[in-house]
Amino acid sequence: MDCIFCKIIEGKIPSAKIYEDDNFIAFMDIAPIARGHCLVIPKHHCRNVLDTPDYVAEKFYPVIVKISRMVKKAFNADGVNIMQFNEPSAGQEVFHAHVHIIPRYENDNLGIKMPSRLNVTISDIQEDAMRIKANC
Ligand code: 5GP
Ligand code: ZN
Repeated sequence: MDCIFCKIIEGKIPSAKIYEDDNFIAFMDIAPIARGHCLVIPKHHCRNVLDTPDYVAEKFYPVIVKISRMVKKAFNADGVNIMQFNEPSAGQEVFHAHVHIIPRYENDNLGIKMPSRLNVTISDIQEDAMRIKANC
């Protein structure tokens, strides 16, 4: 499979690895938006989080927490963004599931923030909730 992150897992292309266990690796992003920007990926190839098998999904979060704490401490950051994109419409560019961990500082002006909010009614929100619950 022609997947750049699978090649990193297999050691076929180099990476600055910071963590590895049976199911995951973490390594530095090649084009960081801040010093310390790194990625956590499952060793099992999956296209994105929507395609992640349960045995990977259930172990993913603890690794993200661990690496986030490591990065925050290492870079003496005030906070971290944990970012994740699924499918091109949502900004995904590499199609092997991954989570970005980015150190943040007060007034770092990285521009990562939630967009402006919609004007909706409580009944719109309730309708949306019903729609999601119907797909459980
Ligand atoms: P996304 O798919 O979440 O938009 O972004 C993919 C991320 O992977 C980008 O931040 C990009 O810089 C990073 N990336 C792409 N190719 C490589 C690579 O070969 N090595 C490393 N370390 N990072 C990569
Ligand atoms: Zn892959």
